[in-house]
Amino acid sequence: MLRIENLVFDYPGHRALDDVSLELGVGSITALVGPNGAGKSTLMRVCAALDQPFSGSVYLDGLDVHEDPRGAHRRRGFLPDFFGLYDDLTVSQCLSYRAASQGVPAARRKAVVDSAAERLEIADRLHQKAGSLSRGLRQRLAIAQAVLHEPRFLTLDEPAAGLDPSARIGLSGVLRALARDGMTILVSSHILAELEDYSTHILMLKQGRVVDHAPLTTMGAVTGRRIEIRLDFARTVPELRLRLIAVAGVEVVSCGIDEAIVMSDPDPAERAGMLAAVLAAGLPLASFSPERRSLQDIYLARMKAVSERPPLRLVGPR
Ligand code: ADP
Ligand code: MG
Repeated sequence: MLRIENLVFDYPGHRALDDVSLELGVGSITALVGPNGAGKSTLMRVCAALDQPFSGSVYLDGLDVHEDPRGAHRRRGFLPDFFGLYDDLTVSQCLSYRAASQGVPAARRKAVVDSAAERLEIADRLHQKAGSLSRGLRQRLAIAQAVLHEPRFLTLDEPAAGLDPSARIGLSGVLRALARDGMTILVSSHILAELEDYSTHILMLKQGRVVDHAPLTTMGAVTGRRIEIRLDFARTVPELRLRLIAVAGVEVVSCGIDEAIVMSDPDPAERAGMLAAVLAAGLPLASFSPERRSLQDIYLARMKAVSERPPLRLVGPR
């Protein structure tokens, strides 16, 4: 769906994206996380064909977004981190105006506006002025504007910032519904517990580089390229650690009297082999499952593991 190849982006004197390559699959919701200044907003702007990279390419459904930015704008929606609305226009006027600017023919505009308002659950506000909406409803209007031309790909830069808890829950529901309709979504946020709620993948950036990019389901237990598996036993097993170590292919991370955490390769075949070996050794296994850690734990661990590099300063011609 979205393919990024060797992307490099420089601000004067500062490299903000340093050789970023990745792919996002159709219908995925990718949580883009990283410390302030990691390059998240820059990556989103480049993917949205708003900024031209120094080198590298971004393809949206095979279309090179920097060769055909207008074509890219038709296929993508973008909610910037700071956005303005026309406060004196009504919700309906804001949406019609956006529809017109997106080239939706006049005859279809009303249908498009109604459908976007319906989708974002602001259909009952069509005649209210944008300036009188609450923060949560302004956010919905802005997203409605971004998706009204039915883009295949949507980027949202910190959409949950400043929203109250119920507006944030509403936002999670909206993003899930858009992804169910086949939209591919890239969303940045610092509210990790929420991202965990609706994201299918996580993309971690630090100092302009990809630290990790993985499905959230396996990510729950991935450290590097390995998965942690939790074993629970039906009763206490004397010398459990030694008995596990004796099973070929089991690398023990931690061990109690009736439970242990071991490392496995992400390859399911290897995991199947390990499970068979543990059973063959006669251990009273009660459950065998990937260890799930919260996104926050994973994030903090990964960010710490990747050491700080001195920032790359670019020296221009004198
Ligand atoms: P994030 O969204 O992850 O906080 P940004 O993409 O906004 O990060 O910024 C990445 C880096 O680029 C930061 O170090 C920031 O200071 C720098 N940067 C952002 N915008 C500009 C700019 N217009 N000129 C120079 N440097 C910038
Ligand atoms: Mg940002």
